[in-house]
Amino acid sequence: MKLSFLPEDTGWFCEKCELKMTPGLTELHYQGNVFKVELLVCPSCGAVLIAEDLAVGRMLEVEKLLEDK
Ligand SMILES: [Zn+2]
Repeated sequence: MKLSFLPEDTGWFCEKCELKMTPGLTELHYQGNVFKVELLVCPSCGAVLIAEDLAVGRMLEVEKLLEDK
């Protein structure tokens, strides 16, 4: 399952490195499941950005999908 947590506004910068964050894939563990998610990653230190409201909204969708199985 692949999800995208890219915010509509991709003009985010890493606070630490002051570099523009770029889209990348990472694994997210959630309630015993592993999801490949696309989100903004700092090319230097690897910090990821997940807009919190976005992530919570998507996770609720995912939970519904899993329950429907
Ligand atoms: Zn950084």
